[in-house]
Amino acid sequence: MINFKNLKIAFSDKSNTDLNRAYFLFKGMSNPLFSKFLTGLSKLALKLHLPINSIIKATVYKQFCGGETIEQSQVTIEKLWKSKIGTILDFSAEGKESKADFDRALKQTLASIEKASISDNIPFSVFKPTGLCKFSLLQKINDSTSLTANDEKEKQEYEARVNTICKLAHNKNVAVFIDAEESWIQDAIDSIANKMMAKYNTEKALIYNTIQLYRNDRITYLHTLLDRSENKFFIGIKLVRGAYHQQEIQRARNNNYPCPVHLEKSETDRDYNRALNICINNIDRIAICAGTHNEDSSQILANLLDEKGIKKNDDRIYFSQLLGMSDHISYNLSFANYNVSKYVPYGPVKDVMPYLIRRAEENTSIAGQMGRELTNIIDEKQRRKNL
Ligand SMILES: Cc1cc2nc3c(=O)[nH]c(=O)nc-3n(C[C@H](O)[C@H](O)[C@H](O)COP(=O)(O)OP(=O)(O)OC[C@H]3O[C@@H](n4cnc5c(N)ncnc54)[C@H](O)[C@@H]3O)c2cc1C
Repeated sequence: MINFKNLKIAFSDKSNTDLNRAYFLFKGMSNPLFSKFLTGLSKLALKLHLPINSIIKATVYKQFCGGETIEQSQVTIEKLWKSKIGTILDFSAEGKESKADFDRALKQTLASIEKASISDNIPFSVFKPTGLCKFSLLQKINDSTSLTANDEKEKQEYEARVNTICKLAHNKNVAVFIDAEESWIQDAIDSIANKMMAKYNTEKALIYNTIQLYRNDRITYLHTLLDRSENKFFIGIKLVRGAYHQQEIQRARNNNYPCPVHLEKSETDRDYNRALNICINNIDRIAICAGTHNEDSSQILANLLDEKGIKKNDDRIYFSQLLGMSDHISYNLSFANYNVSKYVPYGPVKDVMPYLIRRAEENTSIAGQMGRELTNIIDEKQRRKNL
């Protein structure tokens, strides 16, 4: 059994100041009203160009982000690596819609691949499809809506951006994750991800698609992918539960179509753990990253490796968490010799605000998560006091 309760290891690189900041942040976020008030206030202040950058930078940004640039994230990269935790540099400018923004995200992703290719401490790169293409266009592609001449041009530009990323990843031997998003654009994402896997995963898994196990059709999707890839290419998969649960339910309700996500948490957990089993049973053809803050799923994956006699640090199997969250999982897994990495979001403060707001909202909405973070911080503060 992994001892996730070893808080000395979990917070080994956190100063008392770090712990106090985390305590006040998570305490604040745990109150939905206060959290809503603060996120609303931040949105308004940024819209009005009020000088709140330094406050955000010293608090929520410091907890969840590496820096404004790749260079500024170096301190975090090195700090994590002291505990043998790898970094996944994640350019987190979200909700952008112009060609210049897409080209900027492309440039950043390429730079992160170049950096990963010369760094032992950066095992993966990542990109979000909506960072490279308009959401509305992805939706049209998803729905096979007829495209205007301009849409066609933008679609080709988007596909070229994705291909440029995957080609560089292949040439530099760097694995790259394609993040999963809302179900109403996910078929379009799966389609290009499958194409890229077929093209660049012929020798090993370098391109990873993401599967959200809160969806009620993803186990079938995984089986279909296994069938389709047989003897043709390796599969790279990041397994997550899914970040848009409320939006999925709401949209299905508003538009009167069958809800694509599970309604019971236990169903999502069951499918997540099933997917872990399926992947490990096919490990000769699949490489996986378990992107989760869930202790049970992390333990189940560790047990599966043990049962199948797979080395803990087999490079086809990674655990991954987000910077600033679930250090008790990351640090204790790494201490036990498993491969661990953290998403390290970076970017200008105003651009990463949607990411930070999502963290705040997620942390108030996930039953259990907030409690876990807070309890661990309080217990560690107490442990240090008792020394
Ligand atoms: C490294 C990493 C990469 C990620 N990449 C992506 C990505 O590409 N795309 C993406 O969408 N998300 C991504 N996520 C976020 C992820 O999907 C989850 O939102 C988050 O990690 C919380 O889930 P959990 O597995 O950590 O565990 P838990 O805290 O145990 O589970 C919470 C999750 O369970 C599900 N859930 C909650 N309530 C219910 C309910 N009533 N019925 C059914 N299901 C429910 C939701 O998915 C919720 O997020 C990523 C997370 C990590 C750590």
